[in-house]
Amino acid sequence: MKKETLAIHSSHLTDETAASIAAPIFLSTTFERSEDGSYPKGHMYSRNSSPNRQVLENALAQLEGGEIAFAFSSGLAAVNAVFQCLQSGDHVLMPQVGYYASYKLAEEIYGSWGLQVSQVDMTDLPAVEKAIQKNTQLIWVETPANPMLSLSDISAICQIASKKGIKVGVDNTLASPILQSPIALGADMVMHATTKYIGGHSDILGGALILKENNDWAKRILRVQILMGATPNPMDCYLLARGLKTLAVRMAQHSKNAAILAEKLEKHPAVEKVHYPGLPSHPQFELAKKQMPNGQSGMISIQLKAPENATQKFASSLQLFQQATSLGGVESLIEHRKSIEGPQSNTPGNLLRLSIGLEHADDLWADLSASLDKL
Ligand SMILES: *Cc1c(COP(=O)(O)O)cnc(C)c1O
Repeated sequence: MKKETLAIHSSHLTDETAASIAAPIFLSTTFERSEDGSYPKGHMYSRNSSPNRQVLENALAQLEGGEIAFAFSSGLAAVNAVFQCLQSGDHVLMPQVGYYASYKLAEEIYGSWGLQVSQVDMTDLPAVEKAIQKNTQLIWVETPANPMLSLSDISAICQIASKKGIKVGVDNTLASPILQSPIALGADMVMHATTKYIGGHSDILGGALILKENNDWAKRILRVQILMGATPNPMDCYLLARGLKTLAVRMAQHSKNAAILAEKLEKHPAVEKVHYPGLPSHPQFELAKKQMPNGQSGMISIQLKAPENATQKFASSLQLFQQATSLGGVESLIEHRKSIEGPQSNTPGNLLRLSIGLEHADDLWADLSASLDKL
Protein backbone atom coordinates (compact mmCIF):
# COMPACT_ATOMS: atom_id res chain seq x y z
CA MET A 1 0.00 0.00 0.00
CA LYS A 2 1.03 3.61 -0.57
CA LYS A 3 1.81 5.79 2.44
CA GLU A 4 -1.40 7.83 2.02
CA THR A 5 -3.47 4.67 2.48
CA LEU A 6 -1.22 3.16 5.15
CA ALA A 7 -1.36 6.36 7.21
CA ILE A 8 -5.13 6.02 7.48
CA HIS A 9 -5.60 2.28 7.80
CA SER A 10 -2.56 1.29 9.87
CA SER A 11 -3.64 3.69 12.62
CA HIS A 12 -7.07 2.08 13.00
CA LEU A 13 -8.04 0.55 16.33
CA THR A 14 -10.75 -2.07 16.01
CA ASP A 15 -13.48 -1.63 18.58
CA GLU A 16 -15.35 -4.77 19.66
CA THR A 17 -17.82 -3.00 21.95
CA ALA A 18 -19.60 -0.64 19.57
CA ALA A 19 -17.95 -1.22 16.18
CA SER A 20 -17.13 2.48 16.15
CA ILE A 21 -15.28 3.88 13.16
CA ALA A 22 -13.31 6.38 15.21
CA ALA A 23 -10.92 4.76 17.66
CA PRO A 24 -11.95 4.36 21.29
CA ILE A 25 -9.55 5.70 23.93
CA PHE A 26 -8.52 3.24 26.62
CA LEU A 27 -7.56 5.23 29.69
CA SER A 28 -7.11 2.19 31.92
CA THR A 29 -3.69 1.85 33.55
CA THR A 30 -4.27 -1.81 34.37
CA PHE A 31 -5.73 -4.84 32.58
CA GLU A 32 -7.50 -7.96 33.86
CA ARG A 33 -5.79 -11.32 34.08
CA SER A 34 -7.32 -14.66 33.09
CA GLU A 35 -7.84 -17.58 35.42
CA ASP A 36 -4.49 -19.04 34.42
CA GLY A 37 -2.79 -15.71 35.22
CA SER A 38 -2.16 -14.72 31.60
CA TYR A 39 -3.15 -11.42 29.98
CA PRO A 40 -5.71 -12.25 27.28
CA LYS A 41 -5.20 -9.08 25.23
CA GLY A 42 -1.47 -8.81 25.85
CA HIS A 43 -1.66 -5.76 28.12
CA MET A 44 -0.80 -5.82 31.82
CA TYR A 45 0.00 -2.28 32.95
CA SER A 46 0.00 0.82 30.78
CA ARG A 47 3.62 1.81 31.31
CA ASN A 48 4.50 -1.51 29.61
CA SER A 49 1.90 -1.33 26.85
CA SER A 50 -1.58 -0.01 26.19
CA PRO A 51 -4.01 -0.29 23.28
CA ASN A 52 -3.78 3.29 21.95
CA ARG A 53 0.01 3.29 22.19
CA GLN A 54 0.23 -0.09 20.49
CA VAL A 55 -1.81 1.14 17.53
CA LEU A 56 0.34 4.26 17.23
CA GLU A 57 3.56 2.23 17.39
CA ASN A 58 2.35 -0.28 14.79
CA ALA A 59 1.32 2.52 12.45
CA LEU A 60 4.66 4.32 12.78
CA ALA A 61 6.57 1.07 12.14
CA GLN A 62 4.59 0.48 8.96
CA LEU A 63 4.94 4.06 7.71
CA GLU A 64 8.71 4.09 8.22
CA GLY A 65 9.17 0.51 6.96
CA GLY A 66 10.63 -0.74 10.25
CA GLU A 67 10.01 -3.96 12.19
CA ILE A 68 9.23 -2.24 15.49
CA ALA A 69 8.46 1.19 16.93
CA PHE A 70 8.42 2.76 20.38
CA ALA A 71 6.48 5.85 21.44
CA PHE A 72 7.76 8.25 24.09
CA SER A 73 6.45 11.25 25.97
CA SER A 74 8.72 13.68 24.05
CA GLY A 75 11.14 13.75 21.16
CA LEU A 76 14.03 14.05 23.57
CA ALA A 77 12.87 11.02 25.57
CA ALA A 78 13.17 9.08 22.29
CA VAL A 79 16.70 10.41 21.66
CA ASN A 80 17.54 9.54 25.27
CA ALA A 81 16.53 5.91 24.70
CA VAL A 82 19.02 5.69 21.83
CA PHE A 83 21.91 6.96 23.94
CA GLN A 84 20.90 4.44 26.62
CA CYS A 85 21.92 1.69 24.17
CA LEU A 86 25.54 2.88 24.40
CA GLN A 87 28.13 2.08 27.06
CA SER A 88 30.55 4.27 28.94
CA GLY A 89 33.61 4.70 26.70
CA ASP A 90 31.63 4.45 23.44
CA HIS A 91 31.85 7.26 20.92
CA VAL A 92 28.94 8.89 19.11
CA LEU A 93 29.30 11.14 16.10
CA MET A 94 26.77 13.95 15.98
CA PRO A 95 26.06 16.71 13.43
CA GLN A 96 27.58 20.16 13.83
CA VAL A 97 24.25 21.63 12.80
CA GLY A 98 21.22 20.05 14.36
CA TYR A 99 18.70 20.12 17.18
CA TYR A 100 20.64 21.72 19.99
CA ALA A 101 19.09 19.78 22.88
CA SER A 102 19.93 16.39 21.31
CA TYR A 103 23.60 17.37 21.32
CA LYS A 104 23.37 18.81 24.84
CA LEU A 105 21.82 15.56 26.09
CA ALA A 106 24.73 13.52 24.71
CA GLU A 107 27.44 15.94 25.76
CA GLU A 108 26.18 17.25 29.09
CA ILE A 109 24.28 14.31 30.59
CA TYR A 110 25.98 11.30 29.01
CA GLY A 111 29.37 13.02 28.80
CA SER A 112 29.57 12.93 32.57
CA TRP A 113 28.87 9.18 32.41
CA GLY A 114 31.74 8.55 30.05
CA LEU A 115 30.10 8.75 26.62
CA GLN A 116 32.43 10.35 24.09
CA VAL A 117 30.73 12.77 21.75
CA SER A 118 32.12 14.69 18.81
CA GLN A 119 30.51 16.84 16.15
CA VAL A 120 31.20 16.79 12.44
CA ASP A 121 29.86 18.55 9.36
CA MET A 122 27.46 15.77 8.24
CA THR A 123 27.17 17.29 4.77
CA ASP A 124 30.88 16.56 4.21
CA LEU A 125 31.25 12.79 3.63
CA PRO A 126 35.09 12.60 3.75
CA ALA A 127 34.94 14.52 7.06
CA VAL A 128 32.40 12.02 8.42
CA GLU A 129 34.64 9.09 7.45
CA LYS A 130 37.65 10.79 9.04
CA ALA A 131 35.81 11.56 12.29
CA ILE A 132 35.02 7.89 12.91
CA GLN A 133 36.99 6.45 15.80
CA LYS A 134 37.73 2.87 16.88
CA ASN A 135 35.04 3.13 19.56
CA THR A 136 32.38 4.83 17.40
CA GLN A 137 29.11 2.94 17.87
CA LEU A 138 26.58 5.42 16.53
CA ILE A 139 26.32 8.12 13.89
CA TRP A 140 23.41 10.47 14.56
CA VAL A 141 22.08 12.23 11.48
CA GLU A 142 19.51 15.00 11.26
CA THR A 143 18.25 15.90 7.82
CA PRO A 144 16.98 18.43 6.90
CA ALA A 145 18.81 20.15 9.76
CA ASN A 146 17.91 23.14 11.82
CA PRO A 147 18.16 26.08 11.10
CA MET A 148 19.97 26.28 7.73
CA LEU A 149 18.00 23.36 6.27
CA SER A 150 21.14 21.64 5.11
CA LEU A 151 20.81 18.00 4.04
CA SER A 152 22.92 14.97 4.85
CA ASP A 153 23.19 12.10 2.41
CA ILE A 154 21.61 9.26 4.41
CA SER A 155 22.48 6.42 2.06
CA ALA A 156 26.13 7.53 1.66
CA ILE A 157 26.56 7.87 5.44
CA CYS A 158 24.97 4.45 5.99
CA GLN A 159 27.41 2.91 3.50
CA ILE A 160 30.36 4.41 5.37
CA ALA A 161 28.94 3.25 8.72
CA SER A 162 27.95 -0.27 7.73
CA LYS A 163 31.49 -1.09 6.55
CA LYS A 164 32.57 -0.52 10.15
CA GLY A 165 29.57 -2.03 11.92
CA ILE A 166 28.39 1.36 13.18
CA LYS A 167 24.69 2.04 13.70
CA VAL A 168 23.03 5.05 12.06
CA GLY A 169 20.08 6.88 13.59
CA VAL A 170 18.22 9.59 11.68
CA ASP A 171 16.18 12.39 13.21
CA ASN A 172 13.45 12.52 10.55
CA THR A 173 11.34 15.16 12.31
CA LEU A 174 11.66 17.95 9.75
CA ALA A 175 10.89 15.64 6.82
CA SER A 176 8.05 13.50 8.29
CA PRO A 177 7.57 9.80 7.43
CA ILE A 178 5.72 10.90 4.30
CA LEU A 179 8.54 12.82 2.63
CA GLN A 180 11.62 10.83 3.66
CA SER A 181 12.20 7.13 4.45
CA PRO A 182 15.60 6.71 6.15
CA ILE A 183 15.25 2.94 6.71
CA ALA A 184 14.82 2.38 2.97
CA LEU A 185 18.05 4.35 2.53
CA GLY A 186 19.93 2.07 4.95
CA ALA A 187 19.41 3.64 8.41
CA ASP A 188 19.09 1.38 11.45
CA MET A 189 16.67 3.63 13.28
CA VAL A 190 14.49 6.68 12.77
CA MET A 191 13.49 9.21 15.38
CA HIS A 192 10.58 11.65 15.34
CA ALA A 193 9.56 14.47 17.58
CA THR A 194 5.89 13.61 17.05
CA THR A 195 5.32 17.02 18.66
CA LYS A 196 5.87 18.47 15.19
CA TYR A 197 4.37 17.25 11.89
CA ILE A 198 2.89 13.96 13.14
CA GLY A 199 0.82 15.65 15.85
CA GLY A 200 0.45 18.56 13.49
CA HIS A 201 -1.67 20.84 15.68
CA SER A 202 0.82 22.19 18.24
CA ASP A 203 -1.00 20.48 21.12
CA ILE A 204 0.95 17.28 21.89
CA LEU A 205 4.49 16.70 23.11
CA GLY A 206 5.71 13.30 21.95
CA GLY A 207 8.47 11.25 20.39
CA ALA A 208 9.05 7.96 18.62
CA LEU A 209 11.77 5.57 17.56
CA ILE A 210 11.34 3.15 14.69
CA LEU A 211 13.90 0.37 14.22
CA LYS A 212 14.67 -1.43 10.99
CA GLU A 213 15.07 -4.72 12.86
CA ASN A 214 13.79 -6.09 16.11
CA ASN A 215 17.41 -6.58 17.21
CA ASP A 216 19.43 -6.16 20.44
CA TRP A 217 19.07 -2.38 20.28
CA ALA A 218 15.29 -2.76 19.99
CA LYS A 219 15.25 -5.05 23.02
CA ARG A 220 17.29 -2.53 24.99
CA ILE A 221 15.03 0.34 23.89
CA LEU A 222 11.98 -1.62 25.01
CA ARG A 223 13.57 -2.01 28.46
CA VAL A 224 14.43 1.70 28.56
CA GLN A 225 10.88 2.63 27.54
CA ILE A 226 9.40 0.50 30.30
CA LEU A 227 11.96 1.07 33.06
CA MET A 228 12.64 4.78 32.54
CA GLY A 229 8.92 5.27 32.06
CA ALA A 230 8.82 8.25 29.66
CA THR A 231 5.75 6.83 27.94
CA PRO A 232 2.96 8.82 26.29
CA ASN A 233 -0.55 8.84 27.74
CA PRO A 234 -3.51 7.22 25.90
CA MET A 235 -5.08 10.57 24.96
CA ASP A 236 -1.88 11.76 23.26
CA CYS A 237 -1.50 8.39 21.51
CA TYR A 238 -5.06 8.71 20.23
CA LEU A 239 -4.40 12.24 18.97
CA LEU A 240 -1.15 11.18 17.30
CA ALA A 241 -2.84 8.23 15.57
CA ARG A 242 -5.52 10.66 14.44
CA GLY A 243 -2.80 13.05 13.27
CA LEU A 244 -1.33 10.26 11.14
CA LYS A 245 -4.59 9.96 9.21
CA THR A 246 -4.22 13.46 7.77
CA LEU A 247 -0.41 13.51 7.66
CA ALA A 248 -0.08 12.82 3.93
CA VAL A 249 -2.51 15.54 2.87
CA ARG A 250 -1.08 17.98 5.39
CA MET A 251 2.47 17.35 4.15
CA ALA A 252 1.37 17.85 0.56
CA GLN A 253 -0.09 21.25 1.46
CA HIS A 254 2.86 22.32 3.68
CA SER A 255 5.12 21.33 0.81
CA LYS A 256 3.14 23.15 -1.87
CA ASN A 257 2.81 26.34 0.21
CA ALA A 258 6.50 26.41 1.13
CA ALA A 259 7.58 25.90 -2.50
CA ILE A 260 5.42 28.86 -3.61
CA LEU A 261 6.65 31.14 -0.82
CA ALA A 262 10.33 30.17 -1.15
CA GLU A 263 10.29 31.20 -4.80
CA LYS A 264 8.59 34.54 -4.07
CA LEU A 265 10.88 35.26 -1.12
CA GLU A 266 13.98 34.62 -3.23
CA LYS A 267 12.85 37.29 -5.71
CA HIS A 268 12.09 39.96 -3.08
CA PRO A 269 14.74 42.73 -2.93
CA ALA A 270 14.67 42.88 0.91
CA VAL A 271 15.67 39.20 1.19
CA GLU A 272 19.38 38.45 1.18
CA LYS A 273 19.13 34.65 1.06
CA VAL A 274 16.55 31.87 1.15
CA HIS A 275 17.49 28.49 2.61
CA TYR A 276 15.08 25.94 1.15
CA PRO A 277 16.21 22.59 -0.29
CA GLY A 278 13.59 22.75 -3.05
CA LEU A 279 15.19 25.80 -4.72
CA PRO A 280 17.86 25.29 -7.41
CA SER A 281 19.98 27.84 -5.49
CA HIS A 282 20.23 25.45 -2.51
CA PRO A 283 23.71 23.85 -2.48
CA GLN A 284 22.13 20.38 -2.12
CA PHE A 285 19.27 20.75 -4.57
CA GLU A 286 20.24 17.51 -6.37
CA LEU A 287 20.39 15.54 -3.11
CA ALA A 288 17.03 17.03 -2.09
CA LYS A 289 15.41 15.68 -5.26
CA LYS A 290 16.99 12.25 -4.78
CA GLN A 291 16.43 11.85 -1.04
CA MET A 292 13.03 13.56 -0.79
CA PRO A 293 11.53 12.95 -4.24
CA ASN A 294 7.98 13.82 -3.18
CA GLY A 295 8.85 17.34 -2.13
CA GLN A 296 10.24 19.35 0.73
CA SER A 297 8.52 20.04 4.03
CA GLY A 298 7.13 23.38 5.18
CA MET A 299 10.40 24.72 6.60
CA ILE A 300 12.11 27.77 5.09
CA SER A 301 14.85 29.93 6.59
CA ILE A 302 15.49 33.43 5.27
CA GLN A 303 18.15 36.02 5.84
CA LEU A 304 17.01 39.61 5.49
CA LYS A 305 19.00 42.56 4.19
CA ALA A 306 18.57 44.08 7.61
CA PRO A 307 20.44 44.19 10.92
CA GLU A 308 19.49 41.92 13.83
CA ASN A 309 17.13 44.33 15.61
CA ALA A 310 15.19 45.09 12.41
CA THR A 311 14.99 41.34 11.72
CA GLN A 312 13.45 40.72 15.13
CA LYS A 313 11.04 43.59 14.60
CA PHE A 314 10.04 42.13 11.23
CA ALA A 315 9.12 38.82 12.93
CA SER A 316 6.74 40.56 15.32
CA SER A 317 5.25 42.81 12.62
CA LEU A 318 3.49 39.98 10.76
CA GLN A 319 -0.24 39.39 11.14
CA LEU A 320 -0.78 35.74 10.17
CA PHE A 321 2.64 34.38 11.08
CA GLN A 322 2.88 34.08 14.85
CA GLN A 323 6.23 34.55 16.52
CA ALA A 324 6.91 31.30 18.36
CA THR A 325 9.30 28.35 18.45
CA SER A 326 8.44 24.83 17.21
CA LEU A 327 7.14 23.77 13.82
CA GLY A 328 4.88 21.44 11.90
CA GLY A 329 1.50 22.77 13.02
CA VAL A 330 -1.43 23.88 10.89
CA GLU A 331 -0.62 27.54 11.67
CA SER A 332 2.39 29.39 10.24
CA LEU A 333 5.11 30.36 12.71
CA ILE A 334 8.16 32.58 12.48
CA GLU A 335 11.15 32.45 14.75
CA HIS A 336 14.32 34.47 15.29
CA ARG A 337 16.72 31.60 15.98
CA LYS A 338 19.75 33.48 17.22
CA SER A 339 17.94 35.07 20.16
CA ILE A 340 16.43 31.70 21.12
CA GLU A 341 19.72 29.82 20.87
CA GLY A 342 21.57 32.28 23.11
CA PRO A 343 24.97 33.98 23.03
CA GLN A 344 26.97 30.88 21.91
CA SER A 345 24.82 30.56 18.76
CA ASN A 346 26.47 30.59 15.32
CA THR A 347 23.18 31.41 13.62
CA PRO A 348 23.25 34.73 11.72
CA GLY A 349 21.36 37.57 13.42
CA ASN A 350 19.41 38.35 10.24
CA LEU A 351 18.02 34.81 9.98
CA LEU A 352 14.38 33.89 10.50
CA ARG A 353 12.97 30.37 10.42
CA LEU A 354 9.50 29.93 9.00
CA SER A 355 7.24 26.96 9.58
CA ILE A 356 4.76 27.27 6.76
CA GLY A 357 1.29 26.16 7.80
CA LEU A 358 -1.83 25.17 5.92
CA GLU A 359 -3.27 28.63 5.26
CA HIS A 360 -3.68 29.76 1.63
CA ALA A 361 -0.31 30.71 0.12
CA ASP A 362 -1.77 33.99 -1.22
CA ASP A 363 -2.68 35.14 2.30
CA LEU A 364 0.71 34.11 3.67
CA TRP A 365 2.49 35.98 0.89
CA ALA A 366 0.31 39.09 1.42
CA ASP A 367 1.38 39.05 5.08
CA LEU A 368 5.10 38.53 4.35
CA SER A 369 5.33 40.94 1.44
CA ALA A 370 3.51 43.75 3.30
CA SER A 371 6.24 43.75 5.94
CA LEU A 372 9.10 43.04 3.50
CA ASP A 373 8.08 46.04 1.38
CA LYS A 374 8.56 48.28 4.42
CA LEU A 375 12.15 47.15 5.08
C1 LIG B 1 11.45 19.36 18.47
C2 LIG B 1 12.56 18.53 18.00
C3 LIG B 1 13.17 17.59 18.83
C4 LIG B 1 12.78 17.39 20.29
O1 LIG B 1 11.45 17.03 20.45
P1 LIG B 1 10.65 17.39 21.80
O2 LIG B 1 9.32 16.79 21.61
O3 LIG B 1 10.65 18.88 21.93
O4 LIG B 1 11.39 16.77 22.94
C5 LIG B 1 14.20 16.82 18.30
N1 LIG B 1 14.62 16.99 17.02
C6 LIG B 1 14.07 17.91 16.21
C7 LIG B 1 14.58 18.06 14.82
C8 LIG B 1 13.03 18.72 16.66
O5 LIG B 1 12.49 19.63 15.85
